[in-house]
Amino acid sequence: MAKARVIYWFRTDLRLHDSPALKAALDLDPEILWPIFTWDPYYVYRARGGLNRWQFLLDCQNDLSASITKLNPKSKLFLLREAPQTVLPKIFKAWGVTHLVFEKDTDSYPRERDAVVEAAAKTAGVQVITRSGRTLWDSDRIVAKNGGKPTMSTTQLQNAGKKLGPIDRPIAAPSSLPDPGEMPLDFEHERPSGKPDINSERRTKKDTEYQSIAGPKGDFSIESMEELGFPSATTPHKGGETRALKLLDDIAKDKKYTATFEKPKTSPAQFEPQSTTLLSPFLHFGALSIRELYWRVQDIVDEYGKGASSPPASLTGQLFFRDMYFAAQAAIGPKFTQTHGNDHCKFIPWHLPSKVDSKTGVTTGEYHIDSPEAEKWFQRWKTGTTGFPWIDALMRQLRQEGWIHHLGRHSVACFLTRGGCYIDWERGAEVFEEYLLDHEPACNAGNWQWLSCTAFFTQYFRMYSPISFPQKWDKNGDFVRHWVPELKNLSAKYIYEPWKAPLLDQKQAGVRITGDGESSSGEQGKTYPKPMFDFGERREICLAAMKTAYKANLYGDDDRVADGSWADL
Ligand code: FAD
Repeated sequence: MAKARVIYWFRTDLRLHDSPALKAALDLDPEILWPIFTWDPYYVYRARGGLNRWQFLLDCQNDLSASITKLNPKSKLFLLREAPQTVLPKIFKAWGVTHLVFEKDTDSYPRERDAVVEAAAKTAGVQVITRSGRTLWDSDRIVAKNGGKPTMSTTQLQNAGKKLGPIDRPIAAPSSLPDPGEMPLDFEHERPSGKPDINSERRTKKDTEYQSIAGPKGDFSIESMEELGFPSATTPHKGGETRALKLLDDIAKDKKYTATFEKPKTSPAQFEPQSTTLLSPFLHFGALSIRELYWRVQDIVDEYGKGASSPPASLTGQLFFRDMYFAAQAAIGPKFTQTHGNDHCKFIPWHLPSKVDSKTGVTTGEYHIDSPEAEKWFQRWKTGTTGFPWIDALMRQLRQEGWIHHLGRHSVACFLTRGGCYIDWERGAEVFEEYLLDHEPACNAGNWQWLSCTAFFTQYFRMYSPISFPQKWDKNGDFVRHWVPELKNLSAKYIYEPWKAPLLDQKQAGVRITGDGESSSGEQGKTYPKPMFDFGERREICLAAMKTAYKANLYGDDDRVADGSWADL
């Protein structure tokens, strides 16, 4: 029997360790294996991906390519610059491919894309093999075990998971890889045989096209940011499987940290190093296997015994949240990332209630849909010039580095939606989509729904104050001083409320609290904006508006809500 000629299509799995799909490809004992990655126009042109995420992706690709070459000097990660839906059918034939193997993806766009590719493979007589490997359990199987419903809590996820059996142990990385075959790009032999190539003009044009599929050097190589025409990224975080495994080793060496990790006790204000693992961008690109992480942690927890933390606060508990959002998205489909058409996401009329009746607690006054003021608040939130130093520091860290701590994400998401601006969570999720290194459609939308109390979480009276919440973690405001250098020398008393600092204190600290953010210099010793609103007032307005919306939509109630009180987190 002729030996297999396999295309291994890397997508969400930029690694060699613990890859069930790669193992399935190698189990075919192929004569030829082409490790490829396709530049997909959807991600290149349509998805909002900032420069930092691009750089992280290139790091992962370069590292993977080098690891492949170590196993076979003739091979590397071959970059194909064309939409997979169109390029794969052409190369199936031109390269004599027998099998296409890839890791299963449950995000909405890839599901559609993969269906097109699978149909084309069928037509070409190419066998498609897929394996789940991006989550602890196969998300579709979780949904089936959850009665076809989305998992809306980690308990539901764990119960469904139990029915599927224990999480698989990771698979070792391969120790060798087959040679890649020839990679002709002259697709002209698709021309009906016997017909002369009379259209030489067209052929020349097509040749240029082929050249571009293989990149400017014609060798399918990975380009740098500069070669891609991008300015340099600003993140200090570097990607790649080698780095991910080293970071995991370092974390696992600290057995106490790993075994007793409790998310609510990790500080959002700690930096260099941060208080949590910062493994999320590696998980996003598949440079680190989720099961590798799970079992490294679980083995340490089992060995540690008494005193080890447990889900949901523990480190493995965090991974359950990730799987929960993936399975929720797998059940709900493309509508998961929006309110419209998503039955599981509560509708809140996000706009700008201007007043609250202090006696009845009900919002009154005009409602400004798309009000210019809300737009201005949104822009100030996005650019880190709200005049609330805690929020501004976090948003500046996000833009510069592409990662912020989970409770930092809580703070800015609550502030933008139900705990300050009363702006639609989808707008915040778009900003996160652009800036996060770890942007994951399911986790991003799911967490925004959680924070805006539109799904997963309903206790909307629990709010994050941009003043008292950070004080619990960082009395001196070191995190703010780092990210908001304008306030570097301000006394700790005013660091979270600089507008309260008397002029003399401002002068001594070399900063003037003035203006609306447009003139904020972002430099030490210049100006810093006044807060864009009175937070206490906004908190009351938002609370009353949420209460009204929940009641109007019959979303259930809560004792605390009935009192009209709020609780600071
Ligand atoms: P650790 O605390 O070390 O946790 C280990 C891993 O568990 C993480 O790497 C991550 O994969 C997973 N995890 C932890 N918390 C969550 C959670 N709440 N939801 C899902 N997975 C979790 N996470 C993303 O991976 N991609 C996103 O696009 C994303 N968007 C978010 C948006 C908002 C508004 C909020 C509040 C949270 C978001 N998160 C997202 C979840 C969480 O903040 C990050 O996963 C976490 O901060 C990553 O840092 P870490 O690796 O140090 O996490």
